[in-house]
Amino acid sequence: MKIIFIGAPASGKGTYAKRLVKEYDLTHISTGDLIRKEIEAETQTGKQAKEYTSKGQLVPNEIIIELLKERMSKEDAKKGFILDGFPRNMKQAKELESITEIDKVLNFEVTMDTIIRRITGRRICRSCGEIFHVKNIPVKDNKCTKCGGEVYQREDEKPEVVKQRLSIYETESKPLTQYYEEKGVLVNIDSNKDVSNPEFDVIDVCKEIFNRINNRINIER
Ligand code: ADP
Repeated sequence: MKIIFIGAPASGKGTYAKRLVKEYDLTHISTGDLIRKEIEAETQTGKQAKEYTSKGQLVPNEIIIELLKERMSKEDAKKGFILDGFPRNMKQAKELESITEIDKVLNFEVTMDTIIRRITGRRICRSCGEIFHVKNIPVKDNKCTKCGGEVYQREDEKPEVVKQRLSIYETESKPLTQYYEEKGVLVNIDSNKDVSNPEFDVIDVCKEIFNRINNRINIER
C-alpha cells in the first residue's frame, strides 16, 4: 500500500501517519523528519537545509528529492509506505511519479483556528520524532514517552516562521489537491477534531480507506 498524506502544517499528517504505520505494517517516510535528522547531525545537507527551514521556506527541490530517493531505496520502503510532507509542490509531484506509483492521497483539511491552536502547543521528540501537544498529548518532564528522548518545540514554530510556512502552503502546496483530485486519487478528511477527541476519530476514517485499498490490492493479486 502506497499512500501520500498532504495538508497544512499541523493538520495531523505526522501524528496519524505514525499511528497507522504500526497497525498496517507500513514505513513512515516524513521528509520533515529526514531533514531534522540531517540538521541534528550537522551534515552538509543539514547545514544547507537549515537556512531554509529556519525561515519557514521550502528546502530546494534537488536537496529534498535526493533525500527522498535515498530513503525510498531502503528495504523497508518496499513493503509499502505513508509518505508525509512530500510532495509539497508540483515539481515534486511530477518527480514522485518517476520514483513510484501511488494508491491514494489523503488530504487532511483543517481551519486556520485549528492550525494556530495546534502549532503553538506542539512539541516533538528530538530523537525519534514522536509528536506531542501540551494539552492534547501531554508529556512529563519533556521526556518522550516512546524512547525517553528530549521533547522540545521546533525552531520553525515561532509565529513569524509559521506565518511564512502557511503562506507557502497556500501558494505552493495547496494546488496539489486539485492535481490529485483530477487524477481521481484524492480523499479529503476533516481533521479539525483533535486526536484526543473520542467522538470522531480521524484514525477510524483513515482505517476504512486503508482497508478498502488493501481489499482491492488483494483482489488484484
Ligand atoms: P509541517 O508539515 O508541520 O509544516 P514538516 O515537518 O513536514 O512540517 O517540514 C518542516 C520543514 O521541512 C518545512 O517547513 C520545509 O522547510 C522542510 N520540508 C519538509 N518537506 C519538504 C519538501 N517536500 N520540500 C521542501 N521542503 C520540505
